[in-house]
Amino acid sequence: MDDARRELAGADVLIEHGVITGIGPDLHPHEAAEVVHAAGCIVTPGLVNTHHHLYQTLTRAVPGAQDALLFGWLKTLYPIWSRFGPEEMRVSALTGLAELALSGCTLSSDHLYLFPNGARLEDTIDAAVEVGLRFHPTRGAMSIGESDGGLPPDALVETEKHILDDCIRVIDGFHDPIEGAMVRVGVAPCSPFSVSRELMRDAALLARDKGVRLHTHLAENDEDVADSLSQFGCRPGQYAEDLGWTGDDVWHAHCVKLDEDEIDLFARTRTGVAHCPCSNCRLGSGIAPIRAMREAGVPVGLGVDGSGSNDSGNLIGEARQAMLLQRASGGADAMSARAALEIATRGGAEVLGRDDCGRIGVGKRADIAVWDVSGVEAAGSWDRVALLLAGPRRVRDLFVEGRQVVRDGQLVTIDLPRVLERQRDLAERLAAG
Ligand SMILES: [Zn+2]
Repeated sequence: MDDARRELAGADVLIEHGVITGIGPDLHPHEAAEVVHAAGCIVTPGLVNTHHHLYQTLTRAVPGAQDALLFGWLKTLYPIWSRFGPEEMRVSALTGLAELALSGCTLSSDHLYLFPNGARLEDTIDAAVEVGLRFHPTRGAMSIGESDGGLPPDALVETEKHILDDCIRVIDGFHDPIEGAMVRVGVAPCSPFSVSRELMRDAALLARDKGVRLHTHLAENDEDVADSLSQFGCRPGQYAEDLGWTGDDVWHAHCVKLDEDEIDLFARTRTGVAHCPCSNCRLGSGIAPIRAMREAGVPVGLGVDGSGSNDSGNLIGEARQAMLLQRASGGADAMSARAALEIATRGGAEVLGRDDCGRIGVGKRADIAVWDVSGVEAAGSWDRVALLLAGPRRVRDLFVEGRQVVRDGQLVTIDLPRVLERQRDLAERLAAG
């Protein structure tokens, strides 16, 4: 995934101070260097996740939400989420990030848009620091509750003044603009329907003032487009453009229903898309026109989306799903395995504004996934890179900024069994009501 898309056999990768400083055969590291042997493995850039709601890892396969469409699904889950607090946010983020790391992810964004009972964005940042992943949390928001004709219960919405103040607080407190940054904060009202037109506009102004990125859900399904037409009198792309929500510092989740003009708008403005194929299937939203987007020049990354609407957060599995879904609608040549891997690595890095990540190249950050392809899943393969999308579902080793996060298939940064025990306790308490 370097600029020439080279595929090297038997090469070494030299890492120093979090940066890749050499690639090629027979590199001679410093005497004190640690050597990780990767014979029988494929070494790829760490995968990049561009859309998630980590807090939902505590609400998988909830009865009543399993077979509902998007809006009905939300109405089932809101009362459960309103009982969350800081500990639920932290533990669900630890669990979700662990799952991502084991499936090859080194850089993840997150979209947290509800803050009940004292929960704060830093509950999830703390979790990412513990797990050791590069993290782009976005400060989400909802301000239109049930009493104003919105979907969420009033207890889950905030005033728009408080939302903007807290965005400023978390950007000033945690956003790191430098190359190699481990944490970057974005601004992310939940969707055009959950906040006012004024907040969408002010959020865009604030993000530009602070030099941070903008993120939201857009054009997810037919209902979404119909609501945009009836409430705003225009399609989602037009609404986004009118309020400053297009540009190379903006990325939108889903975009399943973008039409030709909207794809053209996104391509012209370099507005990014987080493609979430499993979630789109799970909620019956449709098939996003990813091939057309990429051909037009729209930056596209991959997202697992929240576990409320995916139930899984396995990023290499998501890459395979992206490939299969394009083929289901566009034919066997609609997306190659290499194209899916590109979307999952440098595509996602571009969407998040990280040209220092998502590729193995000299001078790039040392975010690297090592996949053991000597096992039964990969046996008999004639093309191991292509097979990656039907091969192992877990990495053997994972490095972020040169630091080992996974070794021999196990997380070395956190005590995962203990986290899972805590997760079970919290889930049981939530289920009991
Ligand atoms: Zn989402």
